[in-house]
Amino acid sequence: MQRRAFLALIAAGGATIGLEACSSPASVGPPVTAVAAPSPAVTATPTATPSPTPTPTSTPTPTPAFPLPQLAKVPIPGGVMTDLPGEANLLAWTVDDGSNSEVIRLYAEFAKATGTRLTFFLNGTYPGWSDHADLLKPLVQSGQIQLGNHTWSHADLTSLSDVEAIEELQRNHDFIVDTFGVDPRPFYRPPFGYRDHHTDALAASIGYTTPVLWYGSLSDSGLITEQQVVDFATQWFLPAHIVIGHLNYLPVTNVFPQLHRLIIDRGLTTVTLNDVFTH
Ligand SMILES: [Zn+2]
Repeated sequence: MQRRAFLALIAAGGATIGLEACSSPASVGPPVTAVAAPSPAVTATPTATPSPTPTPTSTPTPTPAFPLPQLAKVPIPGGVMTDLPGEANLLAWTVDDGSNSEVIRLYAEFAKATGTRLTFFLNGTYPGWSDHADLLKPLVQSGQIQLGNHTWSHADLTSLSDVEAIEELQRNHDFIVDTFGVDPRPFYRPPFGYRDHHTDALAASIGYTTPVLWYGSLSDSGLITEQQVVDFATQWFLPAHIVIGHLNYLPVTNVFPQLHRLIIDRGLTTVTLNDVFTH
């Protein structure tokens, strides 16, 4: 579906889907019917003379290489980020929290095996980030997995004093720098999507100038079924979307093949925010 038409449908529709606590305030949800069939229909053309080409079974399968997406980067637009600019078939698959150490490990293994580019908005308070630092570090340092700040303990920034709000971001920042050797700035995701101009200014005072929300959710900050995860991915894995998922429950890890297939079938290229934006 053309993005312009899609946005027009959103404007016309106005309905929002029910999302979980972590993502409810920022949902931008068109009616479900608005995203019916984004995949182009493929008509198979039968070949007249199927000449059997012998398969060179002796050739060893090469280790898959995952080249960097060749993109012309653009400056970060000001204000709250909810989607990607441009008309390209880019998908920013972002995942948050990390309350389940095994889910962190399995996401990292999935990225490693498939080349899928992901952005993790992590809470350093969860031990899984330290448990799997050695696995994550090469993926983070190559840029395949980008780390963003999601506060140390998943705090609602709008409920804290100024000092406490800054401390939540700064402590998590220090953890990420010390553990992974990368600087997540300027990207952060306010837990629950709770932010306002005051918290924006507090975050910006320590370099976190871009609050990243989302445009579609796997809705798995709580426990849902594998089929629900697939259904939400089918609904939201679309060009220029920033989609939010979570590193909290195992079902998503059991449907990675289906989600990966969806990305391939739709001709989407996964990107991190650093792949798209200069800063
Ligand atoms: Zn979260």
